[in-house]
Amino acid sequence: MAARANLRGLDLEEHSLEPVIQRTCAECGTPLTKQEIEASLETDGPFLCTIHASEEVTLDEDAEPPG
Ligand SMILES: [Zn+2]
Repeated sequence: MAARANLRGLDLEEHSLEPVIQRTCAECGTPLTKQEIEASLETDGPFLCTIHASEEVTLDEDAEPPG
């Protein structure tokens, strides 16, 4: 939060306000849909397709040991 004050002194880049938007999955490179892009922006994580985005979540939730 405190870092916002520093941004006022950095007017070098006009596009600094725009978030970096990728249009392809960071894992497999498949084109992302608008919903997939928005979901990636909301999670503030890497841009992933639905398949890989779900795998990212599954890794944490599916922590039960086998057998
Ligand atoms: Zn993918």
